[in-house]
Amino acid sequence: MSLIVQKFGGSSVSDAEGIKRVAKRVVETQSAGNQVVVVVSAMGDTTDDLLDLAGQLTAAAPAREMDMLLSSGERISMALLAMAITELGASAESFTGSQAGMITDAFHGKARIIDVSPHRIRTAIDKGEIAIVAGFQGMSRESNDITTLGRGGSDTTAVALAAELAADVCEIYTDVDGVYTADPRVAPNAQKIDRISSAEMLEMAASGAKILHLRCVEYARRFGVPLHVRSSFSQHEGTWVLPDPDDKITIQEGEPLEQPIISGVAHDRSEAKVTVVGVPDIPGKAAEIFGIVAGANSNIDMIVQNVSTQGSGKTDISFTLPIIDGKEAIDALNAAKAQVGFDSIDYNEQIGKLSLIGAGMRSNPGVSYRFFQALHEAGVNIDMISTSEIRISVVTDAKLLDTAVRAVHGAFGLDGEAEATVYGGTGR
Ligand code: ASP
Ligand code: MG
Repeated sequence: MSLIVQKFGGSSVSDAEGIKRVAKRVVETQSAGNQVVVVVSAMGDTTDDLLDLAGQLTAAAPAREMDMLLSSGERISMALLAMAITELGASAESFTGSQAGMITDAFHGKARIIDVSPHRIRTAIDKGEIAIVAGFQGMSRESNDITTLGRGGSDTTAVALAAELAADVCEIYTDVDGVYTADPRVAPNAQKIDRISSAEMLEMAASGAKILHLRCVEYARRFGVPLHVRSSFSQHEGTWVLPDPDDKITIQEGEPLEQPIISGVAHDRSEAKVTVVGVPDIPGKAAEIFGIVAGANSNIDMIVQNVSTQGSGKTDISFTLPIIDGKEAIDALNAAKAQVGFDSIDYNEQIGKLSLIGAGMRSNPGVSYRFFQALHEAGVNIDMISTSEIRISVVTDAKLLDTAVRAVHGAFGLDGEAEATVYGGTGR
């Protein structure tokens, strides 16, 4: 008997029909002789709607109350799914994050999991029940309060449970057939990837591919949980994200030994660019600036320091960070303006980031040439560049991002014959 954790995103449970479809699938999985733990997201756009509602009341909602509010979305789904499963003649019990033993730190809105003790889940499945868990939430032992894990966090709930319960697989159900070589909503001829290493998936998720929560991929990699990303709207085999101690995909018989050079193109519109203009070009200034930004709890991504104009003794430092962290970082920098000695700050939210990812690129010269040539031919100007061993990223004007994605996708021969199917359309 296998233990399978199945996570259903918001688009899969967006209405009663969807919940019935999911219930049927879950019951079929159990009837095939498996133990099943289900993790659900909030229905459809519920989380956005709740955020919206709160926004109509206040611009400064207390973080604790925001988590009380947002965690309710997943509780609606879990109870309705339990009802639908019971209706099909199977037995099911739903659990909140805290009932499922998801213990987190006390940082509301971006809580991290510190312990998973799913005793009640184990008991339920050992009795032959289907256990349903509300995703995206936990409880802090410190504050005894409900916390949430950050947007998209239900994936991470599912993987954390799969790791603790030693599940055979964690299935992530969404509204496309798997992980694609680019977002099929932007590049319609993107192709489904059958297997991808967790190292590459990590770069894809970190580069803005929203199909999986970044922390879920990190977690799965650390604990060796195999992920199967697939659609709840079809029976097709999806994408396997395979962790391996060497970050190498295990080769099955008959498969080519060399993996493709490129696995895909990811894009991201959630970041802004900050330029600190006129920074004194002396040791210690970068440390000072990034110390201030870190103090504001912002996640810095790309960093570029320009050469100082001759004789000026001053330089510009640019970096990107999530738009949601922008205001706090700018306020903190401005407060230290005199102390650091810079002239001014430029802040731009109209940027996009495009990344090309592939473990094969480290041993293939010419990848960057082809990449930049494609952008040039598409008339896309480049603002910033950063690389890792298996990724090249650039920042461009937000308006040109989709064009850039299609150009690079095509230049690396990733376009397929047929258009990809997007069932739900929301990407949740
Ligand atoms: N409902 C939450 C969100 O929309 C968590 C999730 O779906 O994973 O971000
Ligand atoms: Mg998601």
